[in-house]
Amino acid sequence: MSFVLRCPNCGPREVTDFGFGGELIPRPRSQPSFRELNAYNYFRRNVAGVQREWWFHRSGCRVWFIAERDTRTNEVLWTARPSEVASDERGAEVAEPEGGRRR
Ligand SMILES: [Zn+2]
Repeated sequence: MSFVLRCPNCGPREVTDFGFGGELIPRPRSQPSFRELNAYNYFRRNVAGVQREWWFHRSGCRVWFIAERDTRTNEVLWTARPSEVASDERGAEVAEPEGGRRR
């Protein structure tokens, strides 16, 4: 299924221009327990509905950004640079996308 994502830098593009970076997951505290670290590395909410996600514009400006997407319909509600999303809306601390910075 194809859909359109709006890159905050480049504007609307086909989703095939982008790489998916996974759900936005709060980073664990600085000295996490083994259980917290496992949950951070392996557990995903896998929401059937609206969730925040990392996306990477691999065929364009090569910048990571955040999108809010309905996983049932692929409707993208908004996209923004990480700096444009208030830290309280992102969670206390936002982890890097899965796989780190792929440049
Ligand atoms: Zn872009």
